[in-house]
Amino acid sequence: MQPIRSKDNFLVFGAPLIEEDEIAEVVHCLKTGWLGTGPKVAKFEENFKKYKQASYSVALNSCTAALHLSLIAAGIGPGDEIITTPLTFCATINAIIHSGATPVLADVDPESMNIDPEQIASKITSKTKAILPVHFAGRPCEMEAIMDLAEKFDLMVIEDCAHAIESEYKGTPCGTFGDFGCFSFYVTKNVVTGEGGMVLTQKEEYAARIKVLALHGMSSDAWRRFSDEGYKHYLVTEAGFKYNMMDLQAAIGLHQLKRVEENWLKRQSIWHTYNKALENLPLTLPADPEPETRHGYHLYTILIDEEKTGITRDEFLKAMHGHNIGTGVHYLSIPEHPYYQKRFGWEPEDYPHAMRIGRQTVSLPLSAKLSEQDVQDVILAVKTILTKAGAN
Ligand SMILES: *Cc1c(COP(=O)(O)O)cnc(C)c1O
Repeated sequence: MQPIRSKDNFLVFGAPLIEEDEIAEVVHCLKTGWLGTGPKVAKFEENFKKYKQASYSVALNSCTAALHLSLIAAGIGPGDEIITTPLTFCATINAIIHSGATPVLADVDPESMNIDPEQIASKITSKTKAILPVHFAGRPCEMEAIMDLAEKFDLMVIEDCAHAIESEYKGTPCGTFGDFGCFSFYVTKNVVTGEGGMVLTQKEEYAARIKVLALHGMSSDAWRRFSDEGYKHYLVTEAGFKYNMMDLQAAIGLHQLKRVEENWLKRQSIWHTYNKALENLPLTLPADPEPETRHGYHLYTILIDEEKTGITRDEFLKAMHGHNIGTGVHYLSIPEHPYYQKRFGWEPEDYPHAMRIGRQTVSLPLSAKLSEQDVQDVILAVKTILTKAGAN
């Protein structure tokens, strides 16, 4: 079989689009010698906050750190229950575990693939302290219903916005509904800094606490202690972590953020191209964005149902790889993993929608870096594989 792309032209899934401005800014950063947390981080925090119309922002070294510190700043700990989705990256669950709280799963809606507010309602107990929705693939969760539940039961809301930088729900940016919004700038995400994350919050005291927690628990702005303002003593006020973002990372993010809308438009266009090219195949394509929402177009997820395609999801993944096209799986549902099964007694069958999606889903490349030829190669590969499988 002749692969659609050659091996030395392998299409890497989620490859970021890095341009000259980022490179020059990183070089500038290296030349100044100020690599750690400093003025570029402060500027990135400011620009990101403005873009999201938020009150306070703290840059960190990952979204995982953002989730962890949000939970701590929310006063969440042992004995508390946090309701979240089974269709997410393990980081969401691990952050809850590391806060000392207990994650509780509420199944997703099979169409939107987002946490189902009715399922959330059915999982609320006297121990529930927060809802942690994930705007899956960039599609906003049903925030009205979620905020209603939060109000009614006096719960905190921590939004996992790792996919949702550009997302909005009824005119409000995702990440500004709840008490905390947590973002990722990991290499495959919509804005990248290599590794990186950000917390948005509406309360100054939360932002201040997160800043302290992110740098060993040292009193405020300890990163200034080696600056030209003269040596400053720091005092440790609690046992914190090492979660701060570096200027080297912010140097990349500053320019990435400038092109966030431009790149969003590119991904939207690729999304529409896929929709049109794949519509007559026996696949389930992603649901259209809901009215009055803005989808972040982070992931384009198709479902492979063996009964319709004649090929299993894993065989499909392998065949795409055979054509030298990288794909993703977002995600095997959380209860599929042995650690969580053992620790919480979770079984995939108890979250049937997330289980089915996790076993059928394939994410096609959807990066602003893709050329028109790349997109056509992906489409041709999908069609070729399904035809060969005798899809009916
Ligand atoms: C990527 C991701 C995270 C973790 O982000 P990091 O910045 O890598 O820590 C958390 N939640 C979801 C849904 C993600 O996709």
